[in-house]
Amino acid sequence: MATVPFSFEVYPPRSPDAAPALFEAIDKLSALGPRFISVTFGAGGSDTKNSIDVLGYILKKKIGALAHLTCAGTSRSSVESLIDAFQAAGVRDFLALRGDLPAGEVELPVDSLNTAAELVAILRSRSTGGSVAVAAFPNGHPESGSQRADIDALLAKEQAGADYAITQLFFYASDYFNFVDLARSRGVTIPILPGIMPLTSASRLERVLELTGETRPAELAEQLAVPDSKQRVEAGIAWAADLVAQLVAGGAPGIHLYAFNEHERVTEVLRRANLI
Ligand code: FAD
Repeated sequence: MATVPFSFEVYPPRSPDAAPALFEAIDKLSALGPRFISVTFGAGGSDTKNSIDVLGYILKKKIGALAHLTCAGTSRSSVESLIDAFQAAGVRDFLALRGDLPAGEVELPVDSLNTAAELVAILRSRSTGGSVAVAAFPNGHPESGSQRADIDALLAKEQAGADYAITQLFFYASDYFNFVDLARSRGVTIPILPGIMPLTSASRLERVLELTGETRPAELAEQLAVPDSKQRVEAGIAWAADLVAQLVAGGAPGIHLYAFNEHERVTEVLRRANLI
């Protein structure tokens, strides 16, 4: 039976009250032996300290800690200071992202960065000694005019020095495999790690569709519309586990799970897909 490394994404606690539950979830996720746990980063550096605290906690567990870092609308010198702050806390591995500009009119620094590829180049030039990951979009970035633009952006990030990519969530294994084939045919060679989000409620599915611009998966949406919450959780876990199993069987180099700061659902997904 094929087996591959797996990893998780968490976000910094939104309030001090939420921190103990997150740290407990990280304890449980760490015990499963992930390759790394990644920690998201708010636009504008709003929660830098929170991100660093969580990354430090992960590092103490002797698990790889991957710091998301965004750059849109941020000056080069601010980004460099941020990288230094992460490195001073022992972080070596980064997920270089553009991020999104806040809505409305904002005054940007004259040398503000515009693309993730620029951030990759800065991370490389500051030789963090670790890895640099980037984002990829199997079904297209919501702002991109064509899949070709997405592949061009991914290629630019590889050329700037990215080591591997992690995908936006998607709902069908064919979305991932078609995208990987297309990327390979256009010269992308870095590993592309599929990102899977177990969704167990209709409201969360709607929110995620709004944020990502993904097309509604009709069958899953129907399964999440039932009144019984146990049935909804079962449907979401079964969907994600089946997707993970198909991805592994088809040769995906690993599985990255969006954990939503809790351990039970992603653990069950991995168990059913025979990865733990
Ligand atoms: P880029 O790679 O710079 O580009 C985005 C899109 O712009 C491309 O797909 C392409 O369509 C177009 N484009 C860019 N450059 C070119 C070019 N040279 N030629 C043609 N087209 C181009 N956001 C956060 O704020 N915090 C997070 O922690 C966070 N984590 C994420 C984790 C993952 C795994 C993913 C997939 C996304 C995450 N995001 C996060 C969201 C991300 O910041 C947004 O999707 C953002 O809009 C794009 O970021 P990017 O790094 O893909 O940008």
